[in-house]
Amino acid sequence: MGIDYLIGNSFTTQVVPLSVNLDQATSLIVERARQLLNQLIKDRGHDKPPFLPEEFARLQGIKKFVKADLGKVSGVLLRFHDGYVIKVNQNHNPARQNFSCAHEIGHTLLSELKLELNTENIEFRTFNPQAHAIAHSKTRERLCDVAATELLMPELVFREYLSGFGLSVQSIERLANVFKVSIRAAAWRIAEVSTEPCIALLWKPHRSAKPKTLRLAWRAGPGGKSRGKANYMPVHTLVRYPSKLHQAYENDTPVESFKLFKLNTVTKRCPMESRGFGRKETRYVISLAFLDR
Ligand SMILES: [Zn+2]
Repeated sequence: MGIDYLIGNSFTTQVVPLSVNLDQATSLIVERARQLLNQLIKDRGHDKPPFLPEEFARLQGIKKFVKADLGKVSGVLLRFHDGYVIKVNQNHNPARQNFSCAHEIGHTLLSELKLELNTENIEFRTFNPQAHAIAHSKTRERLCDVAATELLMPELVFREYLSGFGLSVQSIERLANVFKVSIRAAAWRIAEVSTEPCIALLWKPHRSAKPKTLRLAWRAGPGGKSRGKANYMPVHTLVRYPSKLHQAYENDTPVESFKLFKLNTVTKRCPMESRGFGRKETRYVISLAFLDR
């Protein structure tokens, strides 16, 4: 979660906002992030990762980054008449701080676009009168994450490194190190941009169910659009002990298995690779399932 404050003069130019749906907004913010990225690549003369938030600062009018104890907040964007200041939570690890800073840069890009989000087709099932406002703000946050992802892990460069390392759970950590992002962010990005269709899944211990049960926390890919893309879901999202996934949870070695996935009415058995990451309470398993193997 981030908080974004506006301080000082706001822009006085009259701009008619562009009314867009979620997919259009996603394309526009990615396009704007790519412009910034291309500018950076041109300036430094190479496209070798990492792409650090500090490198984008001058191009985007960010005066400085300040590390501070922000409690539960990841990052804050402060707008002054002569530029921005980004505050980032010093208690988070460097990979997470990078993502938080890139997310705040995403806010500066989003505000340049002056979009009027048409949330009618954005999913929310509630009778809460504030639902529209909440949907709008959730959508803005999601769009800034999309921008952050493109800035830190540019699609083309990331795909090139992925194909160099090979599509495998073994590549997640290497990619995270090269691009200075978290394991989770790298895994999610693999599913989004991989040429060979794959799904990334994150499993965590389910505290309230039977002991040692693992539950699906999220899944990603292929493609990053909100609709119209293949949306495979594992048939079982709770996994009882013992299992191959538990084997991955208990050791650091990758484990191969098969899993059933559902797409509409079709069920498909896909090969899957899983590996455990993190320690103790924060231990989790990431799987990559391969749709065409
Ligand atoms: Zn935000």
